[in-house]
Amino acid sequence: MPGGQVIHMMKVVAIDGPVGVGKSTVAAQVAAELGFRHLDTGAMYRVVAWKLMQLPVEQQDNHNIMADLAYRLRISLGASGEVTVDGHDVTDAIRDEAVSRFVSRVADVRTVREALVAQQRRIGSERPAVLEGRDIGTVVFPDAACKIYLDASPEVRVERRVAQLRASGRNADRAEVRANLMERDARDRVRPWGALRVAEDATIVDSTCFDEARVVEIICALVRENPVFGLHGVAAP
Ligand code: C5P
Repeated sequence: MPGGQVIHMMKVVAIDGPVGVGKSTVAAQVAAELGFRHLDTGAMYRVVAWKLMQLPVEQQDNHNIMADLAYRLRISLGASGEVTVDGHDVTDAIRDEAVSRFVSRVADVRTVREALVAQQRRIGSERPAVLEGRDIGTVVFPDAACKIYLDASPEVRVERRVAQLRASGRNADRAEVRANLMERDARDRVRPWGALRVAEDATIVDSTCFDEARVVEIICALVRENPVFGLHGVAAP
C-alpha cells in the first residue's frame, strides 16, 4: 500500500455506557461466547474506593494516598466475576451502595485514572479481550477494533440495578438507587479526564426494548464479521 497509512487495531471489544445498563452481564457473556478475556474496569475503581473507605476519614480525600493505592493494589478479576484484592475476596463488598456513592470521587482523580488505565492497557493487550467501562473506546483503547456504546432509558436502568441488587441479597431502595444512578451518571459525563461519551466510531446499541441475550447476539455478530479478530468464517456455536 504505497503511501497508505497502516492503522493497527487492537483485538479489543470496548463496551462503554452509563450506570445500570447491563454492561457487566453483557460483557461477561460476550467474552465467554468468543473465548476472550473479560475486564470489568468499574470493579477496579470500586476496589480503590473500597480500600480508601477502610482508612480514617481524614485520609479518604488525599489524592496521593488514592494514587498510591491505585498503583500498589494487586487486583485480581476472576472469570466468573469474582474480585480479590491483596488476596481478600471483595466481590460483594465493592458492590455496596456506600461504595457506589463514593467511587465517583475516586474516579475523578487523574493520577488514579492513569494508574488504572495503564493496568487496563496491559491486560487488554495480552490476548483478545472485552473491556467495559466509561472510557474504553475513547481513552483506554481508542484503537479497539470493535466499540459499542450501550444505552437504555433511565427508568429501565433503575429497574435493572434494583433487580441486580436484590438478586445479590441486598435491600435496594428504589428512590436511593435512582438518586445514586443519576448523580453518578452526571458526574461520569463531565469529568475532565475519561468522561463518559460516545466514541465517534462506536456502534450505539439501545437495549431499552430488548433483553441481554439479544444484545450479546448483536455484539458477537459485529465481532465475528470484523476481520481484525480473525473469526470470520468461524461458525457461531
Ligand atoms: O461500572 P461501575 O458502575 O461498576 O463503575 C463504578 C464507577 O467507576 C463509575 O461510576 C465511574 O465513576 C467509574 N468508572 C470510570 N471509568 C471506567 C469504569 C468506571 O470512571 N472505565
